[in-house]
Amino acid sequence: MLQTTQLAIIFDCQVADSGYAYLESGLGYNLNEFSRPGLSKEKSQRTVAKNNLLVQRIKSQVPRVKPFTYEAVRDFLVLGEIKDPDQFYEDRIGFSNKWGPLIKLKEDISIFRELLNILLDSEDARRKSEFPPLSCGFDPLSHKNQVLDWDYDRDSRLVPAFKPKTLFNAIYLAWGLRVQSEKQKKICKYFRMYGERKSCTHYFQDTRGDREFCSKNCSNAFRQKPDWQEKVRRDIDLRITRSRIKLDRVNKKLGMK
Ligand SMILES: [Zn+2]
Repeated sequence: MLQTTQLAIIFDCQVADSGYAYLESGLGYNLNEFSRPGLSKEKSQRTVAKNNLLVQRIKSQVPRVKPFTYEAVRDFLVLGEIKDPDQFYEDRIGFSNKWGPLIKLKEDISIFRELLNILLDSEDARRKSEFPPLSCGFDPLSHKNQVLDWDYDRDSRLVPAFKPKTLFNAIYLAWGLRVQSEKQKKICKYFRMYGERKSCTHYFQDTRGDREFCSKNCSNAFRQKPDWQEKVRRDIDLRITRSRIKLDRVNKKLGMK
């Protein structure tokens, strides 16, 4: 059964108004060290490797609470388009200035990059109708935070709600739950399982959210195949195995359990 429903994601971003910067490791906490004007590319890449811990520009400032919105997901995904490491280094700060740290202060740029890669890989997998490497409400800190609870939304309606503990978790969850409304191209299930077929368009725009085939024709043809149920079962097993392997790899990389 599929049902359209409303779920709330209740999360408050914690954003320091003074903004964020990189802590220069070993050199203490000096505002003047944060700007890196006119460095050669090589030198700044070395700097990137060295100074990558996120800190508040004003250490003692209490962060402001800012409601989480889907815009954070878009802002985060857009960072995946950046190829230049210097640019990425700068834009990561821009992102943090707007939404706060992904998990916590002092997170380094490799964790930031790794979490972004998780979302990009997941997005890529979903486009191909494959299992993303992690569960929908993936939380790098704890699976306990994936619980669906009751709560009131901003309009005081009682709704099932997730209460993620980190910005990254909120982003991953919001992205995962968006699955039905993103109007993106899907691969026709017939084409994926049995290959070429006359009149099959291979890809289609899934405006309804739960379509699997490019056309009624492909759907009928699929169910006329004597082995389709077996094939679907094997396909699901294979995807689950693959996603477990991916999950193990990701967890190993992040050093999480
Ligand atoms: Zn088709």
